[in-house]
Amino acid sequence: MELIKAKTIFEPFKIKMVEPLHQLTLKERQVALQRAKYNLFSLPAESVTFDLLTDSGTSAMSANQWSAMMKADESYAGAQSYYHFERTIQRLTGLKHVIPTHQGRSAEYLLMKAALKPGQFVLGNTHFDTTRANIESAGAKAIDLPCKENEDSSSLDPFKGNIDLVALEHFLQSHPQEVAFVVMTVTNNSVGGQPVSLQNMKAAAHLCRTYKVPLFIDCARFAENCYFIKLREGGQTHRTIRDIAQELFSYGTGAMMSAKKDAFGNIGGFLAVQDDGLAEEIRRLMVITEGFPTYGGLAGRDLEALAVGLEEVLDESYLAYRIRSVEYFGRALEEMGYITVRPWGGHAVYIDAAKTLPHLPVLQYPGQSLSVALYEHIGVRSVEVGTVMLGQRDPITGKELPAPKELVRLAMPRRVYTQSHVDYILEMAGYLKSDLRDVPGYQITKQPRFLRHFTCEFEPIKLKKPSQ
Ligand SMILES: *Cc1c(COP(=O)(O)O)cnc(C)c1O
Repeated sequence: MELIKAKTIFEPFKIKMVEPLHQLTLKERQVALQRAKYNLFSLPAESVTFDLLTDSGTSAMSANQWSAMMKADESYAGAQSYYHFERTIQRLTGLKHVIPTHQGRSAEYLLMKAALKPGQFVLGNTHFDTTRANIESAGAKAIDLPCKENEDSSSLDPFKGNIDLVALEHFLQSHPQEVAFVVMTVTNNSVGGQPVSLQNMKAAAHLCRTYKVPLFIDCARFAENCYFIKLREGGQTHRTIRDIAQELFSYGTGAMMSAKKDAFGNIGGFLAVQDDGLAEEIRRLMVITEGFPTYGGLAGRDLEALAVGLEEVLDESYLAYRIRSVEYFGRALEEMGYITVRPWGGHAVYIDAAKTLPHLPVLQYPGQSLSVALYEHIGVRSVEVGTVMLGQRDPITGKELPAPKELVRLAMPRRVYTQSHVDYILEMAGYLKSDLRDVPGYQITKQPRFLRHFTCEFEPIKLKKPSQ
């Protein structure tokens, strides 16, 4: 509790191995941007100084994880490392069948392939982009039902990741045969890393049982979510994170995880289900794409690293540091005049780019524009979470429809950057702030059909009147 009172946040670990940061000049970054066609996913990592593109697979592993990797069992079938992984996840989730996968989206792919028919609906608090793509490529429809509080980016509601229970019940009632299942994503990544309350999860589970629809938990950041529950939900402060997590998982009939997030893995994921028939179908399918069911596309050492990581992440001094350092970053940006999504989420600060760059129309992608400016001037790589990533087309006219929000996500890799790194970024963001009114909008010059944000190409739209 000492940690909560002190103003200085210290990293609750010491550093044993270091890596140099790449430092470039402004000119070098401008050349890199042109080569990458202004898509930050196309930048070589060596052109980036602070890589806040994602918290996925970018964690620093602990000495305990590395030592478990050395002892891993690399047997093809029935490796001890698999049983360690299985036991850890069974104990955490209470679910019977544990299926390793090479990352989160392969768990999604297997689930959609095994449990979804064309034309069905999958409802959720907000589907993550790969979840949506897997649902849609199975010919089904992904429906987002985020709670109302989350429309207002300045609202301080403690659980803006919740599902809208009224809308959920209404949809279940009006489509009794067509809803395949519900997916609750914790924390709710696409709306700003916002948590879901235990109460909301419990009520959603109750509706799912009433309408006989399975409930899957997309649990990439379950520990961050559970720490928010402990801090913010009435009657939860005395409980351990494990205890809260066990209750959270008890409401699901299955769970899928990108273990590249809260399991501190550089790769990996899993699908855990209660139903024997579903598990059998998934294991039958996975041999074609992932490998034998006791390794699922992972090495024994990956399974060990994840099993140890899933225990480490329950440590409260780590979670306190994690959540407080994101808050420190968000508060300082807000004080400089960047409009951020409040309250600050678990793994990232999200800047509301439409409000921070009010001179740009939505279809000139203000989020893209801000993320390019942050790279050009600070060497920070962020990611647009707006119309480029989540926009859709009108099914009749084919016209581009804007996403509900234009956000830029600055994700914090776990245990990687220190407070002085954050202080440097903040200082530079302060200098950049006054020049933002001159940054250009963008147009897309080339794009693929699915998940366009990863590979599309952009061009800046020349401003009509030169600003100086
Ligand atoms: C990252 C993520 C995924 C996809 O996982 P990958 O490991 O990147 O394939 C799915 N859902 C959520 C909520 C995520 O954050």
